[in-house]
Amino acid sequence: MTIKNVTVIGSGTMGNGIAHVFAQFGYEVSLVDLSADALKRALETITKNFDRQVAKGTVTEADKTAALARIKTFTALEEAAPSADLVVEVATENVDVKHKIFTQIDRLCPSHTILASNTSSISITRIAAATKRPEQVIGMHFMNPVPVMKLVEVIRGYATSDAVTNTVMEVSRSLQKTPVEVNDYPGFVSNRILMPMINEAIYTLFEGVAGVEEIDTVMKLGMAHPMGPLHLADFIGLDVCKAILDVMYEGFGNPKYAPCPLLVNMVRAGHLGVKSGKGFYEYNGKDMKVAARFVK
Ligand code: NAD
Repeated sequence: MTIKNVTVIGSGTMGNGIAHVFAQFGYEVSLVDLSADALKRALETITKNFDRQVAKGTVTEADKTAALARIKTFTALEEAAPSADLVVEVATENVDVKHKIFTQIDRLCPSHTILASNTSSISITRIAAATKRPEQVIGMHFMNPVPVMKLVEVIRGYATSDAVTNTVMEVSRSLQKTPVEVNDYPGFVSNRILMPMINEAIYTLFEGVAGVEEIDTVMKLGMAHPMGPLHLADFIGLDVCKAILDVMYEGFGNPKYAPCPLLVNMVRAGHLGVKSGKGFYEYNGKDMKVAARFVK
């Protein structure tokens, strides 16, 4: 089937990047959020990111102007949903929020519309159960920052059809991304492998095997990771890491996924990483140093 109109629900960190790439590659985009302020901020971010691409020479000024003209913003889902061939839901990671949105879009969208979610951890099969079209519900998991990262993890729910999966794989390729098809089990592939590694790094610190910088240096220089696991955890958000581990712990019933007590304490204390200014490192503008409590 042909996808022309894409509705992106949620214009935060990921939503603005997803709207950016769809518009860049010729799709008509309806970007939805709860407030006009959020949408204004998203458009400013998208414009800034296009400016960066123009400066690098990867996009022309004319391409940028045309792409920006393809993005319309809405605060009412009722206005943005009926024209959609594909909806990509990128709202807050909360099962009740997603259930409510999928019930609404199932009611508002035409019967051919594919309903995708960018969730990092919530079961696609569970989200699909809120609709009367589970065969047309799928995961489209972009990576942060969306305009830069090449992967889309395409997650098939229990009932997702072959035709819908093929369309979403094709759409992902049209955005110059590499889609990878996976099945719907806790953590999918990306977080199932990444989060236990991050959790183990936190345990290694918790048990006093080595310090923050030492652990990150081993993984950067020894394993050629671009970022150490503790720095990466701060970047993702320690609350997000804990929430994903909780989903895997609950989903598999296996204690190997239980979040390290140090991670749990840091989240309780509000030390969430880059977004709160403090996690394994302390962040001050562009400067970062190991957080005081981890300095030996
Ligand atoms: P965010 O908090 O930056 O943005 C979420 C946006 O959704 C906010 O602007 C909020 O106002 C909006 N929103 C909430 N409820 C809404 C509703 N009912 N209708 C319209 N808009 C609504 O969050 P984010 O980091 O962009 O994450 C969004 C989704 O992407 C989550 O499911 C998350 O798990 C997933 N994800 C995030 C990352 C990441 O690195 N941040 C990576 C991959 C996937």
